[in-house]
Amino acid sequence: MRASQFFLPTLKETPAEAELVSHQLLLRGGFIRRLSSGLYTWLPLGLRVLRRVEATVREEMDRTGAQEVLMPVVQPAELWQESGRWEQYGPELLRIRDRHQRDFCLGPTHEEVISDLARREIRSYRQLPINLYQIQTKFRDEIRPRFGLMRAREFIMKDAYSFHLEMDSLNQTYTAMYDAYGRIFTRLGLDFRAVEADTGAIGGKKSHEFHVLADSGEDAIVFCGECSYAANRELATSPDRGGSPAAMPEPAQLAETPGSGPRIRQIPVIADGVPVFLLLQDGDEPNLVKAGHVLEAQDVRPASPEEIWNLAGVPAEFLGPKDIPSGIRTLADHRVQGLQNFCAGANQKGLYWTGLNWHRDLDLPPAADLRSVEAGDSCPQCDTGILRIRRGIEVGHVFQLGTRYSTRMNVTVQDEKGHEQTLVMGCYGIGVSRIVAAAVEQYADERGICWPASMTPFDLGIVAINARKSADVLAAALQLHDELQAAGYSVLLDDRDERPGVQFATMDLIGLPHRIVVSEKALTQGMLEYRSRRGTENEFLQKEEILMRLHGGN
Ligand code: ATP
Ligand code: MG
Repeated sequence: MRASQFFLPTLKETPAEAELVSHQLLLRGGFIRRLSSGLYTWLPLGLRVLRRVEATVREEMDRTGAQEVLMPVVQPAELWQESGRWEQYGPELLRIRDRHQRDFCLGPTHEEVISDLARREIRSYRQLPINLYQIQTKFRDEIRPRFGLMRAREFIMKDAYSFHLEMDSLNQTYTAMYDAYGRIFTRLGLDFRAVEADTGAIGGKKSHEFHVLADSGEDAIVFCGECSYAANRELATSPDRGGSPAAMPEPAQLAETPGSGPRIRQIPVIADGVPVFLLLQDGDEPNLVKAGHVLEAQDVRPASPEEIWNLAGVPAEFLGPKDIPSGIRTLADHRVQGLQNFCAGANQKGLYWTGLNWHRDLDLPPAADLRSVEAGDSCPQCDTGILRIRRGIEVGHVFQLGTRYSTRMNVTVQDEKGHEQTLVMGCYGIGVSRIVAAAVEQYADERGICWPASMTPFDLGIVAINARKSADVLAAALQLHDELQAAGYSVLLDDRDERPGVQFATMDLIGLPHRIVVSEKALTQGMLEYRSRRGTENEFLQKEEILMRLHGGN
């Protein structure tokens, strides 16, 4: 492909709307363009990357025996009413109405549609297990679409759904999907981790997320330095219980300053609309996902300053567990259980209790794990390991749904004995378009994108220096282009009428793994100039040597 004929609208300036490096570089490099909030057009260069990711995903899915289908984006409301999600899903579900006043939605996911297909078409246990997948556009009216492809409203997902007579069979397919995901992200050249994940309000059985490691990731993932333990920080645990060293009990006293003992913070949250107090040791981070599990609430959020004032009549700073306003449910983190002579707000403005002790001065509320683990905590799985934390971008999710949908939607078959059996389900998602952004995020440097060989839009770039002035250079560059293309490489030849500096900067920006420069000077010596995108040195090499480099991959 000749760059002079290729639609490659690069930008010199970093677009002000883009915060994240991947978003900036994908815009600047002419991979995508924004149409509206969370809506992006894939330009030719970007689409080439997306198609390669899709191809890898498709190959590995097919290899497991999963079969590709393509379901509609527009889905009838009736199915969502049946599953109970028409009400539950909230404003992320974009609802639309047709000319006959019938309700529909744009599919954010396809459990309902696939369950409807399964209950109509799967008649016998002999057809099981079955795993169907698609690579398709999803729409979620995200509350905060941002970071370009990373959290878009319209995006491309691979979603697979499996149906089974029994849990054993689901476990097998789940493992096969887990392994396939590992192969996909390895083949894509990404540094990733699979972690145990929250099964959330749906209450599935088992769930793992796949994260691409990158400092800008929205998720914190926790793993052990010694053993295989790895979990999303939302649910990671540690056996560390803290507590105070044994000491003589001090008298409880009111004071105007918190004092030097350990301090308990009382954190007001709203769980499905109901206020709850969480007690944590000062400095420990409350984990609202864990709190949600204990409280069996779908949505737990911090209370606003107004809500706190209405609850207790004092600012958050002075809230404390002694003499709590009556009727408000309170949970204590395990780590406050072992504290002695602690201090806390006194529920009066400007006053604190010091020297508090459980049972003597106040009752210990029900205790639970409410704290987010920190780097350096002990591992919950092995005796010796210490937990570490890295940031991750969630690019895949495998999930055992059990009978959550099949019960409500009546997905049953007759088993061997002729009994009606409700099927168990698994679902398996990959954020295909998010992977493109995640790869940029993981590998970009100060000059631009560095594509892994498996995702690059072109295998290599040829820069023809002063091609408009030198017929020799243009002819040599074109010949090289044709030869390499015939050898099976995809090639972008920069034959534009631009200064060499601009040409080099463009090549660096768009991130092709290899660059070959054709210049008059090198030609006279029968040489070409080679540089790998991640390298810093130019090498003068013969064509054959360059071919060897290309063959060796990155
Ligand atoms: P998140 O926590 O990031 O919102 P999710 O739990 O809602 O993700 P799933 O419903 O499991 O995501 O969707 C499967 C995959 O689709 C995710 O692992 C992610 O890679 C991708 N994905 C989800 N939401 C978006 C989005 N708004 N833009 C791009 N990709 C997305
Ligand atoms: Mg989401």
